[in-house]
Amino acid sequence: MTETVAQTKKAEILKDYYQLFINGEYRDASNGAKIEVINPATGELLTTVSKGTREDADTAVEAARNAFESGKWPRQNEAKRARLLNKIAAGLRKRFEEIVDAEVLNTGKTVEAAQGQVMQGIQDFEYYAGVITTFGGKTNPMPNGFFNYTLKEPVGVAAQIIPWNYPFMMAAWKIAPALAAGCTVILKPASYTPITAYILADVIKEAGVPDGVVNILTGSGADIGSYLTEHPGVDKVAFTGETETGKDIMAKASETLKRVTLELGGKSPNLVFNDCDIDAAVDGSLHGIFYNTGQSCEARSRLFIQEDIYDEFMEKFLAKAEKLRLGDPFDEKTHMGAVISKNQEEVIDSYVQIAKEEGGEVLFGGKRPEGEEFENGFWYEPTIIGNVTNDMRIAQEEVFGPVVAVMKFKDEKEAIQLANDTIFGLGSAVWTKDQARATRVSKGIKAGIVMVNNTISAFPGSPFGGYKQSGFGRELSAETLDLYMETKSVISYIGERPLQPFKFD
Ligand code: NAD
Repeated sequence: MTETVAQTKKAEILKDYYQLFINGEYRDASNGAKIEVINPATGELLTTVSKGTREDADTAVEAARNAFESGKWPRQNEAKRARLLNKIAAGLRKRFEEIVDAEVLNTGKTVEAAQGQVMQGIQDFEYYAGVITTFGGKTNPMPNGFFNYTLKEPVGVAAQIIPWNYPFMMAAWKIAPALAAGCTVILKPASYTPITAYILADVIKEAGVPDGVVNILTGSGADIGSYLTEHPGVDKVAFTGETETGKDIMAKASETLKRVTLELGGKSPNLVFNDCDIDAAVDGSLHGIFYNTGQSCEARSRLFIQEDIYDEFMEKFLAKAEKLRLGDPFDEKTHMGAVISKNQEEVIDSYVQIAKEEGGEVLFGGKRPEGEEFENGFWYEPTIIGNVTNDMRIAQEEVFGPVVAVMKFKDEKEAIQLANDTIFGLGSAVWTKDQARATRVSKGIKAGIVMVNNTISAFPGSPFGGYKQSGFGRELSAETLDLYMETKSVISYIGERPLQPFKFD
């Protein structure tokens, strides 16, 4: 039997077994436990990875703590840190194709999506290498006799917990600003998708980042993820994942008052106005939900169309959906790859059933695809649900799969009101040719990101994060550095003699 592309790539790229990366060394879990890693597009075993224990988490925290308290990294000047970040980026660029292929194997996402995400991850290291050299404290206005300046100092040891939907890019979003700021880190990848984090570990080691500055620890979220959020040796938790997990983390981190940033779920609105370029809005709305097989936190899963163009838009939208190519993630023409797991496939289908029970109508898709190509692995068709009202569960709860709920609106006021009628506030999109309207609506939407006539939500220099229950804190952009730093205020008295506030005669 001939080998498939996935089987060839697996043989060429992957190791049989990946170990934890702690204090600059690769090691087994303390109890020897391992996790099996599956290719979601085929259901085949890809490799195994050590499953870290609490003991391993203690070792990683100790390594990160030592590197922070007595190592060079936090004390090194910014230019040197920047040079190392650039060296990491250069190392990643050399292994670009390998990282892309490993990401496709491990997630079932399309090669095109993986290329864009891996490239952005690399650019994040380059971006923070640049920004950190100009990032610093300032002087402040003071009464006569006083002088005040602020210092920006790294916050300490950061535990960084990431999900499975953008494994490499999320690792880069987390590690690059933390390193630039001078923090030391323990990254916990999702158990489904650990492979590219370990390639990143190789590159970080080769670049000469001191031991203990970056530690990578796979393992159960409920066990070691949770343990890290409570650990007294950790100063900051940066989490990306589900809103419910975020609430748990915030509660646990409060015991030791850790700094917390949370990038959580979404139910992002996509507003199509009657004055838009309809063909562009059709394509953009398909991309907005079906990119990454709908497994994006900012997936535009609620599609609102102005009522007077509803019929025209929907006719084109459904016709174009027919042209979506679902299948082999390594085929460059594929638009949509697999979903991450059997469990996720079942969750998606259960939401489609709930939508139907609530009165929604499946206009497109709505089941696991048929055919030889889809016999193995985990798959779901691109799915469009009509006859939805914004109070239905399909319009309020995050599905995290390729399912869009379609609704109508009358005017700008109602569009904003419906867009904001959700507990979430992560992404949003507006399709209109009227820039004044685009600006008004952008201001009216309660979400961290508004995409105007565009479907791309994240660039290294633009802040990414949520309002409301989509979390708080930002990733990417210069302002993220503040979240990995403390501000120290130095107040000097500059009179001839030290200040004596108490008078004794
Ligand atoms: P998840 O919350 O189940 O898991 C995320 C990570 O947290 C994993 O590494 C997991 O092992 C770990 N974890 C699980 N329980 C934990 C606990 N109690 N304590 C500490 N760590 C724990 O999320 P997921 O299913 O991997 O990812 C999908 C979710 O991520 C979606 O809700 C999506 O919207 C969200 N997401 C948000 C963003 C954003 O930037 N806002 C980006 C990507 C994904």
